[in-house]
Amino acid sequence: DSLANKIAAGEVVERPASVVKELVENSIDANSTWVKVEVFEAGLERIKISDNGDGMSAEDCERSVYRHATSKIRNENDLFHVKTLGFRGEALASIAAVSRLTLKTSTGEEAGTFLELEGGKVVNKTKSDARQGTEIIVEDLFFNTPARLKYMKTIHTELGHITDVLNRMALSHPDIRFEVYHNEKQLFRSSGRGDLLQIIAQVYGMGVAKKMVPVEYSTLDFSIKGYAAKPEVTRASRNYISTLVNGRFIRSIPLNKAILKGYHTLLPIGRQPLVVLDIEMDPILVDVNVHPAKLEVRFSKEKELFEAIETTIREAFRKETL
Ligand code: ADP
Ligand code: MG
Repeated sequence: DSLANKIAAGEVVERPASVVKELVENSIDANSTWVKVEVFEAGLERIKISDNGDGMSAEDCERSVYRHATSKIRNENDLFHVKTLGFRGEALASIAAVSRLTLKTSTGEEAGTFLELEGGKVVNKTKSDARQGTEIIVEDLFFNTPARLKYMKTIHTELGHITDVLNRMALSHPDIRFEVYHNEKQLFRSSGRGDLLQIIAQVYGMGVAKKMVPVEYSTLDFSIKGYAAKPEVTRASRNYISTLVNGRFIRSIPLNKAILKGYHTLLPIGRQPLVVLDIEMDPILVDVNVHPAKLEVRFSKEKELFEAIETTIREAFRKETL
């Protein structure tokens, strides 16, 4: 089973940024309002994630490191109403399989649990203090999969991927206070006060934040909220279009197209806009299960949605120029 775990791990854990993404998603799913991320040597040496979320009981904690031990889906019906970021129950088992992992967690009601694993095997289990929340440390990532380790790029590149992941997390969760450190130097912090514009300022700079125009639209089926940069702020790539669906960062080519159509002729040829759009809708209208990385989705009622997005953006700039 350890071999099977290692093989499966390869699909979930591609690089340190995948570990950061999965662990922070778990913190968010556990209703944390504060998440601290400390990475060393772009996470190749050490990744530590602390949160103040629900925590786990001793029993849940031991179960959590086994494959498919999700607490988030109990029956088939739940699959169509996914509100959490995770639901496959693979991440923790996969990360544990290719690292030395320690987990300290408590629900705050009783003594907590401390668990230590090496290559997916539990090597130590004791009680810990009862501070509510969870702390996970991942060290020596890929120590037992040398082929994967060799594939890692420079510290600079790996840290870039981590920053991308955390920028998206912060943009999609303005209500969570994030603190991010690399080699003990603070890289990023957000207030957790729910102000998306403040996070845009942190991620893209104050100059950009000042040029963002609010967009807002809602129907019975969905609501669209966010900011679109004035057409004078352009970028060379589409990486600056951030689209969230029910708090989940997604990529959708047709959705991007709708945004671009909203800008219509306002952008110079070949230039891309900077946009952050948060779309809320009944989970029954979204299928997030089409891609294991959970980035791609399919929508029912997509025609209405795309038209609404196009119109909302166009209207936002029409109002601007009046
Ligand atoms: P999934 O997120 O798909 O359920 P994971 O492997 O990521 O699967 O996590 C397994 C389980 O461990 C989760 O379902 C959750 O119950 C528990 N868990 C993981 N991280 C945390 C955390 N930071 N706080 C509370 N529970 C957690
Ligand atoms: Mg998860």
